[in-house]
Amino acid sequence: MPEGHTTHALAWRLNRGYAGSPAAVSSPQGRFAGGAALLDGLMLVDASAWGKHLFVQFEGERWLNVHLGLIGTFSVMPRATRPGGEGIPVPVQGQVRLRLLNEAWVGDLRGPTVCAVVTPEQVGQVQARLGPDPLRPAADPALALRRISLSARPIAELLMDQAVLAGVGNVYRCEVLFRHRVDPFRPGREIRPATWIAIWDDLVALMPLGVAFGQIITMDDQVVDAIQVMAEVADGSAATTSAAVTGARPGDRFERRFYLYRRAGEPCRACGSRVRTQLVAGRNLFWCGRCQRRR
Ligand SMILES: [Zn+2]
Repeated sequence: MPEGHTTHALAWRLNRGYAGSPAAVSSPQGRFAGGAALLDGLMLVDASAWGKHLFVQFEGERWLNVHLGLIGTFSVMPRATRPGGEGIPVPVQGQVRLRLLNEAWVGDLRGPTVCAVVTPEQVGQVQARLGPDPLRPAADPALALRRISLSARPIAELLMDQAVLAGVGNVYRCEVLFRHRVDPFRPGREIRPATWIAIWDDLVALMPLGVAFGQIITMDDQVVDAIQVMAEVADGSAATTSAAVTGARPGDRFERRFYLYRRAGEPCRACGSRVRTQLVAGRNLFWCGRCQRRR
């Protein structure tokens, strides 16, 4: 299930491949034929993300809004080219709702819950319904705290509510609550502001690692390694890792392991107590009943 880091990495890849030039837009499957016709041949101006929503601006104030939902994918890949530089045709595989094509790149969108051409006003309306996104530089955690502090709903449910906080999905929710030893069933109004700010700051630190490496990284040893790699790439001493930090090869750098996620019945890595699971906000929450009793 894509979380906010996936959408932000996608926006980055779209900008790298398409920004500033016209794209051929089509709907091989046919379900987006009308929308594709509105965008076909226009210059792609900029792609950005807000939580799990992707917004792609084309010239002429036309915007594409995409939400991948639970099963959607948007692969953006370099095209093979002939010696003269001409792109070799890319066969369509499966149900491709939207294809973005230029000479160097092919982007295929499959199975989204939202794929629509919208006006600037509609972009504003969608964004106004979303809570702050820890991956957006100007995001204000106080807006989320206001909603949390008025709510009797459990914090594990509030973290999944995109109107409270945009971008966090099930993995980040489980892991960040554990990292701060917060009882997932604690009502929002009993969450202390300092606790909320600590959670927010942690997401602001963790989620860019998810964008960079194409996988969710929450365990402290991996977080330290990932920050180190980011620093080396930033100062140019680790050029060979740039493919990983651009998200070009999603999820292949770090071993996939978590404190709790999908570890029901296994021992908590901190206390040895068995990891518990229960459906909260439609998804399986994982938590440690011993470590996460307070706060
Ligand atoms: Zn524990």
